[in-house]
Amino acid sequence: MTPHHLHATAAALSLGAARGALAARVRAERRQRGEALTAAGPISSPRYGTRRVVGGHADPVSATLVLDRTPARETTWAEVLRRSESRLAWIAQEMRAPDPHRPALPRIIAGIPNLRPANARLIHLHLTGELDWLGGLPLGWTPVRHPLGSVPCPHCEERQLVVQADGPEHAWTVVCATRRLCTGTGCGCGMPGAVEGVAHIWWRADVIGAVAGAAPTHTE
Ligand SMILES: [Zn+2]
Ligand SMILES: [Zn+2]
Repeated sequence: MTPHHLHATAAALSLGAARGALAARVRAERRQRGEALTAAGPISSPRYGTRRVVGGHADPVSATLVLDRTPARETTWAEVLRRSESRLAWIAQEMRAPDPHRPALPRIIAGIPNLRPANARLIHLHLTGELDWLGGLPLGWTPVRHPLGSVPCPHCEERQLVVQADGPEHAWTVVCATRRLCTGTGCGCGMPGAVEGVAHIWWRADVIGAVAGAAPTHTE
């Protein structure tokens, strides 16, 4: 998988964690509201995003959601969840992810490795937009990040790596906090399919395995 695929995967896994927090909010909301909800009046809807074409007409992933980060004050968490489900279903559809009867996010995660690099880049943008939108809500959630200070960056050799630790451990990725971008072929960063201008990203297991000179370990 190229860096675009890894970035998309990391965003999707963070989205999974964010949506776990969102589901907990929905459950708490249901408990708190109980009977009161049935007696409540109509609530205002959040302002939804619009779609903007960013690619060619033949591109199956040609539009991106322009998200309004401002939630309406009277939106319920259940409404936020419903909107998020709807957007993810749209992304899965744009990806032509198989198995349409499954929930959207697992379909997206499973479908990312099959994307062409250009589409993986766009799907990453879509997922980041959704993450930004959820991140702007008072969910009480942030992505799980661990410093990996014991290991030099495969690119710049500074010890400022950060593990992106949402989702299962085997799918964790590593980025460099210096934010130096890849220069493409000849960069020497060791990213498969290195792409000029993309933020460096590696599988955590690969970074740790390269340092250990052996199979990936659980030591950080
Ligand atoms: Zn670096
Ligand atoms: Zn590079």
